[in-house]
Amino acid sequence: MTSAYADPPPVTVRVPAKVNLELNVGPVRADGYHSLSTIYQAVAIYDDVTVAIADDWGVAVTGPLAAGVPADETNLALRAARLLGTHVGSAEPVHVTIRKNIPVAGGMAGGSADAAAALVACDALWDAGFEREELIDLAAELGSDVPFLILGGTAMGSGRGEQMASALARGTFHWVFALSDEGLSTPAVYAECDRLRARAGVAVPEPRPTPELMSALRAGDARALAATLRNDLQEAAISLRPALGEILAAGLDEGALGGVVSGSGPTVAFLVATPEAGIDLAVALTASGMTADVRRASGPTHGAHIIPTRVD
Ligand code: ATP
Repeated sequence: MTSAYADPPPVTVRVPAKVNLELNVGPVRADGYHSLSTIYQAVAIYDDVTVAIADDWGVAVTGPLAAGVPADETNLALRAARLLGTHVGSAEPVHVTIRKNIPVAGGMAGGSADAAAALVACDALWDAGFEREELIDLAAELGSDVPFLILGGTAMGSGRGEQMASALARGTFHWVFALSDEGLSTPAVYAECDRLRARAGVAVPEPRPTPELMSALRAGDARALAATLRNDLQEAAISLRPALGEILAAGLDEGALGGVVSGSGPTVAFLVATPEAGIDLAVALTASGMTADVRRASGPTHGAHIIPTRVD
């Protein structure tokens, strides 16, 4: 029999990675961030984040990609748990366990995903009863991509990426991701973008969504979507890591409908017509020896959501 005073059972939240279908980077704002216009899509590569009541706050990272993720106070999931805790009257400390499957520092927002998952999980663990909108507002304090990982699906981001509006998208898109074994630092890629722009001396317009991309999404037309994939950080990522340009060319040669560097890279995302075409492309990229790893995933998929806690 459970005592009325027993701790609530642990809560596990599954959270997807993201790809940016387009990332338009505008001028630097007064607060130092760039204004962005982006279309996010959640893809079926997931981290699982489990929170449990504990004597003290803490975090552990497990799974195939745990290396490179800090298991200390800088971990974004632990920061998210603590942030939500400050908004809950008497939140008990939690221990966070991250089962890491999203590539780290790959431009797929893995850290932001864990933060989003921790918010949703702690809200349930503490029975805090926050509205989704309230969690999304807190998410924006943690990072520009965090609100989207709560929302999931396909969405438009503006401001510094944190202001969300759902985008109409029909059907399922099939992606192949070419991974690198060494990440790229997001601030370093933005700095390189600024440097290249200053050197070119061109005026940077306010960023806006591309109408052709929005209509390709509404039509569920992978070929039309592939023609509109774009990323203003791509040139900077390739400038820092020239091999990414070769990987992009190789994927297109091997039959991808289109390809783009995801976010600040170095992951390269290829859109293919069918799951079978995805297998063929994954095999060809793996055989080329140009990539550290290759993953296939479909999108859009759900944002952070509770699943049964797994007992190992
Ligand atoms: P984005 O696309 O949002 O710019 P990213 O996918 O390139 O991010 P992340 O995987 O989020 O990169 O990791 C960036 C850095 O954040 C890592 O190098 C790591 O030091 C730190 N970090 C903190 N918490 C986490 C976490 N829970 N998971 C992954 N990285 C984390």
